[in-house]
Amino acid sequence: MIHRRLLRLAGLVPAQLALIAAITTLASGLALAQALLLAEALRRVVVADGAGAVLPIAAGLGLAGLRAATLWAREIATARSGGVIRTRLRDALIGRLADLGPAWAERTPAGESAVAVVDGVEGLDAYLSRYLPQLLVVAVVPVAIAVGLLQVSGPAATALLVAVVGAVVLPRFWDARLLRLGSARWREYERLAGAYVEAAQALPTLRIFGADARTADALAQRSHSLYRTTMRQLRVSLVEPGVSALALHLGTGLAVLAAAVGVATGDAAPIAAFVFLMCARECFRPIAELAGHWHAGYQGLNAVEGIERLMSARPAVADTGTRAEPARGRTRLRLREVSFRYANGLGVDGVSFELSGGETLGLTGPSGAGKSTIAKLLERRFDPASGVIELDGSPMPDFTLDALRASILVVGQETYLFHGTVSENLRLARPEATDEALRHAVHLADAAAFVDALPQGYDTVLDERAGRLSGGERQRLAIARGLVAARPVLVLDEATSALDAATEARVLDRIAAAGLETACLVIAHRASALARADRILRLDAGRMADPGPALDAARTLDGASR
Ligand code: ADP
Repeated sequence: MIHRRLLRLAGLVPAQLALIAAITTLASGLALAQALLLAEALRRVVVADGAGAVLPIAAGLGLAGLRAATLWAREIATARSGGVIRTRLRDALIGRLADLGPAWAERTPAGESAVAVVDGVEGLDAYLSRYLPQLLVVAVVPVAIAVGLLQVSGPAATALLVAVVGAVVLPRFWDARLLRLGSARWREYERLAGAYVEAAQALPTLRIFGADARTADALAQRSHSLYRTTMRQLRVSLVEPGVSALALHLGTGLAVLAAAVGVATGDAAPIAAFVFLMCARECFRPIAELAGHWHAGYQGLNAVEGIERLMSARPAVADTGTRAEPARGRTRLRLREVSFRYANGLGVDGVSFELSGGETLGLTGPSGAGKSTIAKLLERRFDPASGVIELDGSPMPDFTLDALRASILVVGQETYLFHGTVSENLRLARPEATDEALRHAVHLADAAAFVDALPQGYDTVLDERAGRLSGGERQRLAIARGLVAARPVLVLDEATSALDAATEARVLDRIAAAGLETACLVIAHRASALARADRILRLDAGRMADPGPALDAARTLDGASR
């Protein structure tokens, strides 16, 4: 089956695919020559009592060796181009995931994207590097052999030709149905993989709530449903190998019979029967091999859905800015009448404020007030419906996304530390940061004591998600990492939520008093934590509200006590 979109992907490695097809055609030519030599040997054994039969047999054996070497070369070429296909496709997909950014990651379960990038690419590799070149061979070799054999016996060659065309054309009637079943199955497979990844991540929580057995049952049911869908699809997909096997046996039988009748009636030379006996198999060999590659290849047909979905997804914001130079040093951030609504109508309305490098601005308000929405707007996960956000004198969309990311950093409540040493994690944005810069940032984030107490200090390897650290310790490392990045604008979006009040105040105090060039926007629940902020804004139900006397009191009190 040929798939338009898959053909487009084949454009990634056209030379490799043509090479594989050429080598396979050469192997078919050698097999055909071998068959003809064997037919001649048989004729000499039967008609001439074996006289001179050794020569064609020896030549046939020589060709067999040559063909083995050719097939070996084909396997090497296939494996190589498979590697190239996988690498290029995965690079393209990972780049795409990066372009789609956090807004896409939030909407799509991680497992689903992983299935496209891992299993989908494997399936596509088999389709592209094995099935497609073989399809080219099938389009040329069997017909060429059958047409060539017309000289030997017309009726026998016609029988062969009809069988060949039938083997290739008949399964096409099931193509549309197969494609439908295949994409439905793939979607189900992707969702199940996503559900498994989610369940694996949430296992401790599921266990605590006694929901692990129930979740396992639900997953088992979905697995069984996938199994049933797979079997339904297999029944249809097995039509192709079935039909080609039937055509092989029927076609060979009929062709040999017709040739034998021709020899008996004197219409064909005596060698005709041997030629058809030997060559019919070569005529069907490429078709049988195609059917063999079909199983591996048809996964690719299904995977193309998921891969295409990823390739054609549109990022929430377009990267059309032209300012590639990030903001540097002391900069200025300005929001003017910024409004944004989610699909459910909630969001923020007419928010305005200014923040300059070296300043710390506190943003507070009740849960659901719209504070994180401001952080997301500053990350440009989405654009305001109205109003403007200006950075360094330019509206945010004027910056390329790369330049914007090099200008503004948001440290959220949820931290993601990677498998690697503490230093490697801290240097994520700036691999060249000095040890001194690391220590300074760690001190500001009040993380020095526990980092120094780790078995190898900064060289301690953190496992994925840094399970050995407490939630508060992870948050403090994430803040330190944000400080090492030294972006001109730093947004701490409830980044201290897991700290006790005293530690939270200490961290935020140190950052505010460090004399950084950075413009800091600190979103915090506890007003007390914002005592050192230069100014405080309060949001309520998406709108700017009066910070209120409680805040002022907290500031005076806290300010006096520190
Ligand atoms: P805060 O950070 O102040 O707690 P948020 O900015 O996260 O508040 O959310 C503001 C409002 O928007 C809340 O009522 C929240 O339920 C809603 N909201 C947040 N994210 C989404 C979303 N992706 N889709 C729909 N509504 C959302």
